[in-house]
Amino acid sequence: MNLIEKVKAHKTLDLLAKANEITIKEHGNRITLERAIFLSWWCDKGDCAFCYMSSQKPRITKPDKARRNVNSILAEAELVKRIGWNVEFLSGGYGSFSTHEIKAISEKIYSITGNPVWLNVGITQYLETYGDEITGITGAVETANPELHDKICPSKSLEDVVEMLEKAGDLGFKKAITIILGLGETPEDLKYLFNLIGDVEIDRVIFYSLNPHKDTPYANTPQPASLYYAGTVAATRIKYPKLEIIAGTWIDNLANIGPLILAGANGITKFPLFKMYGTNYGRKVEEEVKWSGRKLKGSFTDLELLNATGEEPDPELEPFIKRYIDKCLRNK
Ligand code: SF4
Repeated sequence: MNLIEKVKAHKTLDLLAKANEITIKEHGNRITLERAIFLSWWCDKGDCAFCYMSSQKPRITKPDKARRNVNSILAEAELVKRIGWNVEFLSGGYGSFSTHEIKAISEKIYSITGNPVWLNVGITQYLETYGDEITGITGAVETANPELHDKICPSKSLEDVVEMLEKAGDLGFKKAITIILGLGETPEDLKYLFNLIGDVEIDRVIFYSLNPHKDTPYANTPQPASLYYAGTVAATRIKYPKLEIIAGTWIDNLANIGPLILAGANGITKFPLFKMYGTNYGRKVEEEVKWSGRKLKGSFTDLELLNATGEEPDPELEPFIKRYIDKCLRNK
């Protein structure tokens, strides 16, 4: 039975056992906490069927209004560093920040965290602008079945995403894709994902599960089953042992974390960080990691880390950092 047949036949336990063994061998036992930092709440496209932005478009008419203050973005990066998390990527909808602005923000984040930044800022023709401040480019594939992709994301063609990723590779950047499970794909569609990873030599896959938003066609669609999610990730891990895998889970599904780690996730993501940090939700994430037999890099609970700083941050960031820390403390 091949991997896709095993997913279809619900052989999830077999897949998890094999994927876990491969992951420990190839990647060790460390799990990272990943934070996507958003640039804006605007997107020129605004028509991907599952996306929150598509439900917001009529209400937000000016891109400028949806741009985040850059100091707030940098303050978030500073706090991510303090608590030992990674910046998953710098992300934003189309049309809010120019390439030069994104480059300038990435340079500052690089100098704050010491790590070059992954980008997930849509299909762009201007990759040559970026340099050492960027480690890799993410293509928001969402679903690898071409027909389903065209239906769900009519304005960002799979061909254009792939073309951008190939160019990113030619320029020496790493390549990542995002995949959302629960959009109507089937286990057979894993063949498209496997081909894409192999053909484009993808370094990193970020899996998410559908979060059904109000006022979208998915409003009444349930999130995918935990074992379907874990089985799919496990099959991907077995097929591509060296791939970096990040798996996202929502606050209402934290018990997915253990199975996703056994399935091969190297990092976990998609948390409302400042709402969860230091609360029972944060403690629950740490327990999930512990009971999967892994060690967590960074913390989801240590409040002292929020104030810990090796170097003095830019004084302009201080009020923004304080606002985030106050938000964390308010939830206690
Ligand atoms: S391009 Fe991205 S931000 Fe814009 S509607 Fe699609 S998924 Fe949402």
